[in-house]
Amino acid sequence: MNRFSIFACKSSNSAPRLLVEALWGALNMAALPDDSWEHKAACRGPQSTVFFPPPRFERKDEKLNREARARAICAQCSVKEDCLSYALDIREPHGIWGGANEAERRQMLLVIDGQAV
Ligand code: SF4
Repeated sequence: MNRFSIFACKSSNSAPRLLVEALWGALNMAALPDDSWEHKAACRGPQSTVFFPPPRFERKDEKLNREARARAICAQCSVKEDCLSYALDIREPHGIWGGANEAERRQMLLVIDGQAV
């Protein structure tokens, strides 16, 4: 399963890159079973850009605002648990997955791995 395909255009800003990644994502999505949780992701589409940082410096207030917008989408998503579980399983280092950012997921992994202090 290639979860990346859903979010392929999240970190894009340029139109050509966005098009290539959207096409790549569509091809990968076609390979997934119709009932897979990725097909139900609420972040699919143009709003997906808020789930990953832009390819430029992002101020803290911009990051917090972007993440709040992403979390609001996650809060309405029917596959939030599947998404977070997947991100933890693959130790995804970037972006908002299942309503959690990378720092929050690192903390969850420390607990899961029994290394939390
Ligand atoms: S929980 Fe959030 S990141 Fe995960 S699929 Fe749903 S909307 Fe996307």
